[in-house]
Amino acid sequence: MGDYSSLGDVAGKRVLVRSDLNVPLDGTPPAMRITDDGRIRASVPTIRALAEAGARVVVVAHLGRPKGAPDERYSLRPVAARLGELLGQDVAFASDTVGESAQSVVAGLADGQVAVLENVRFNPGETSKDDRERAAFADQLASLADAFVSDGFGVVHRKQASVYDVAQRLPHAMGALVATEVDVLRRLTEDPARPYVVVLGGSKVSDKLGVIDNLLGKADRLLIGGGMVFTFLAAQGHEVGKSLLEQDQLDICRSYLARAASTGVEILLPTDIVVDTTFPSGEATPHPRVVPATQIPADSLGLDIGPESAAAFAAALADARTVFWNGPMGVFEVDAFADGTRAVAEALTKVDGLSVVGGGDSAAAVRTLGFDEAAFGHISTGGGASLEYLEGKQLPGIQVLED
Ligand code: ADP
Ligand code: MG
Repeated sequence: MGDYSSLGDVAGKRVLVRSDLNVPLDGTPPAMRITDDGRIRASVPTIRALAEAGARVVVVAHLGRPKGAPDERYSLRPVAARLGELLGQDVAFASDTVGESAQSVVAGLADGQVAVLENVRFNPGETSKDDRERAAFADQLASLADAFVSDGFGVVHRKQASVYDVAQRLPHAMGALVATEVDVLRRLTEDPARPYVVVLGGSKVSDKLGVIDNLLGKADRLLIGGGMVFTFLAAQGHEVGKSLLEQDQLDICRSYLARAASTGVEILLPTDIVVDTTFPSGEATPHPRVVPATQIPADSLGLDIGPESAAAFAAALADARTVFWNGPMGVFEVDAFADGTRAVAEALTKVDGLSVVGGGDSAAAVRTLGFDEAAFGHISTGGGASLEYLEGKQLPGIQVLED
């Protein structure tokens, strides 16, 4: 749980909480539907704890990538309503970020009440690269509160006004969610229980190079699936047909294979692949076919790891004491190519130790494939932030809290 003791008694204080409420939405305004409320649910414990302690809670968050101006499609209004349902109390909503509405909504809060400000990215100061522009916006945000709690793990790798600059202006503390995430990441990097198995997949190898680089020095086994497999297979000299291939990463993949061989880290690549002749699209019926990984036909593309590989990956996870998994094994959004991802998720639920799922799509895969979230040790809410941490980078939003 978060430790708010550094803030003193929060009763009666206005506490600005940076949450990550960036959830997927469907539909057109004003009838927007939240398709996965996982991040809202993950934000509740901190908000509830502060409200129960008598704070006047002002939640600041972003949604999507609006262009620094109000845009109805990215309004947090439906998110604030859902937060109210989950909290079981009314949540006030400010129709601007730091303007008249925000000021009057905050002034109207009684002890224990909660308000949500409109999408912080409607203000260009939030993400500005100009320190002064960000500072000016952070001053306005800070003027709405007496203290700051950082709980938006998905954004702690960003040097943004509501994440970084505002923490320099108010007494601050780490929220429960960020504290949990950081604790789990520490356990993955500092003295992990062994065997330590890392499973990587997803679409692009170039997104994950930093993680592979850093974790090759820490893990005992690295299992590779998803779209990045084909760059590794090509690096070994195999044909990959029309599969996803990053030509400019061949050398680096080769160097990782060589390094693993010389340091005794086991890299497992799939031995069979589920292919089709076209990338799955809405109407077309998929025609999945299993082929050896070394014999992908020229007219086909790999869309999942095959059954033999799925079994091998599950076996390689069976004795693990620490697992980090990022990136689906295949195009899990289409049922015909979801089995590899399902098998890895299943294997993770059986791990006797710490099993961590990181990455937005991986977390969504676990949920949409019907797994019970409680069966995993931890499902991270922040893809980019956890990857940057695992690359060994300093996260500005964490660093600023330690100052
Ligand atoms: P995460 O968000 O968990 O970090 P990524 O964003 O890296 O994961 O990758 C997720 C995407 O990778 C999914 O949309 C999935 O369809 C895609 N993907 C997985 N395997 C393949 C493949 N063989 N070819 C193309 N795309 C793939
Ligand atoms: Mg993703």
